[in-house]
Amino acid sequence: MAIDMRTVLSGEVAKLALDYDFSLTEKDFGFDTNIDGVVFSKPAHVNGEIVNMGGYIGLTATVSVSYSAECARCLKPLERDFEVTFERTVVNRGELVNTSEDEADDYIQIVDGMLELDSVAAEQLLMEFPMKELCSDDCKGLCPKCGKDLNEGECGCPTKEIDPRLAILQKLLEK
Ligand SMILES: [Zn+2]
Ligand SMILES: [Zn+2]
Repeated sequence: MAIDMRTVLSGEVAKLALDYDFSLTEKDFGFDTNIDGVVFSKPAHVNGEIVNMGGYIGLTATVSVSYSAECARCLKPLERDFEVTFERTVVNRGELVNTSEDEADDYIQIVDGMLELDSVAAEQLLMEFPMKELCSDDCKGLCPKCGKDLNEGECGCPTKEIDPRLAILQKLLEK
């Protein structure tokens, strides 16, 4: 959503509340918002505020999403929520002249009185999005031989790597 910043710039209001939804998939942000195996079940939500601090304008926003994915080990379907909070200093386009690229990330620019927040929010979200999902940290995964979900119990397949000491013992027993 494009946020009309004119009332803040003119000093008419000191604070703007942010509370809106935007689609992560319907718009072209100039970068890929697809993540393998992840489906965003609802639009992303932005919550936050833009405050005129007297001297500069600060933005704090939390962007949150609900999504479905599957456990990287056992493939169980998962429903998850994820959110990221970020801050920016809001400036008029043209104000940033001698800013290095690193510093430029701390700013968000107003163009013609409007602030386009969605692409920044989407970028921030995707940058910190979990690389892989697990149903639980100690998920045992699937048996590589028979495919059984080992969280539901042992499958009885011989374990691949036999302890070398046990292997010696086994040979002795076979004699
Ligand atoms: Zn799992
Ligand atoms: Zn098995």
